[in-house]
Amino acid sequence: MTDCDFLVVGHGIAGATLAYVLRQRGHQVMVYDPGQENSASNVAAGLMNPVAGKRFALTWRAADLLPFAATFYRELEQRFGQPFFTETPILKLFGSLEEQNAVLTRSADQPWGDFVAGLVTSDPGLPGVNGPFGGAWLRHGGHLAVRTLLAALAAEGTRDGWLRRETFDWTRLATSAAGATYAGRVRARHVICCEGAAAVRNPYFGWLPLTPNQGEVLDVDCADLSTAQVLNRGAYVVPVGPGKFRVGATYRWPPFSEVPTAVGREELAARLTIITDLPFTVTGQRAGVRPAVRDRRPLLGPHPTVPSLSFCGGYGSKGVMLAPRLATLLADWLDGHGEIWPDVSLQRYNTLRPASVI
Ligand SMILES: Cc1cc2nc3c(=O)[nH]c(=O)nc-3n(C[C@H](O)[C@H](O)[C@H](O)COP(=O)(O)OP(=O)(O)OC[C@H]3O[C@@H](n4cnc5c(N)ncnc54)[C@H](O)[C@@H]3O)c2cc1C
Repeated sequence: MTDCDFLVVGHGIAGATLAYVLRQRGHQVMVYDPGQENSASNVAAGLMNPVAGKRFALTWRAADLLPFAATFYRELEQRFGQPFFTETPILKLFGSLEEQNAVLTRSADQPWGDFVAGLVTSDPGLPGVNGPFGGAWLRHGGHLAVRTLLAALAAEGTRDGWLRRETFDWTRLATSAAGATYAGRVRARHVICCEGAAAVRNPYFGWLPLTPNQGEVLDVDCADLSTAQVLNRGAYVVPVGPGKFRVGATYRWPPFSEVPTAVGREELAARLTIITDLPFTVTGQRAGVRPAVRDRRPLLGPHPTVPSLSFCGGYGSKGVMLAPRLATLLADWLDGHGEIWPDVSLQRYNTLRPASVI
């Protein structure tokens, strides 16, 4: 029997950041994950964008989450001696004169704090970029090489023995007030479910209002397109190397295919042709399922009736920005100090749990 303090189920960005924070605090942690190639985290473009959507709205808690995440990922870069996070300006292009006018009108109220570096009302003249209506230059955003970071952490976990490349079977978990035992092999003080969208099938947490949606991204070669910034207009175009870009993302609600589709590829290619007239070649395509939540807020904290069990996830399309701060918040709570913020706490949904389930 292996004894540990915390058993983390899932090593996507949610579970990996939580396990890292707990280990940094000196806790014994075990992580289970079979290593799924198309997990949302492995597919994600890794963008951290402070101003999103057609309404140019400031992302929820951006002023807290973005700097926290950037510092967190920089610390991991130091640890592994490898680059993961690239801070990049983001040019959010206006799609029309109406959109430009709406944003200019709102700008008088300064709704974006420090995140908008400037607004331009004519074509910014970037190599290969169609921007006839101008756009908003955003700062303090960037992109994370999520897959590379998770691979580095997993390699450490395999080497040091805290990561098991197995699917966790919840029917083999026995819980008590003092802790939990898994398959007669591992004893833990507390178990945390970080299964991403797969949590909809979890016997303890399946009642949570997760609304998984599928997304696809393309890898694209486009020789002369500007790489000095992320571009955003209907799609985001993230530079990942000289002449290389990741273009995303689609949204599909159930029923959906979990593998890449021709429709997804065509949709993204069409959106890219609005941003640039340059020829491009699609070199790769990936699909994954986002763990979205009905009210678009994460889900964090203890199970309502099983004291040795918690949940960490529901990050929707913003896992990169959310994961470091929320992992730290949950770790604080697990360490006996700090409260789970009410707007992310599972408790807001306790009434959804049927009396018949665990
Ligand atoms: C196409 C696409 C593009 C995206 N782009 C961005 C982006 O640019 N920026 C951004 O911030 N977010 C983006 N996202 C969203 C982001 O990917 C998610 O918010 C985030 O990855 C969710 O992380 P997670 O750890 O909760 O889930 P996941 O990444 O799905 O990880 C869950 C892990 O749990 C494991 N698991 C599940 N069940 C078990 C079990 N029983 N036993 C053991 N292990 C188990 C799985 O194998 C998996 O590794 C994108 C998503 C998609 C699909």
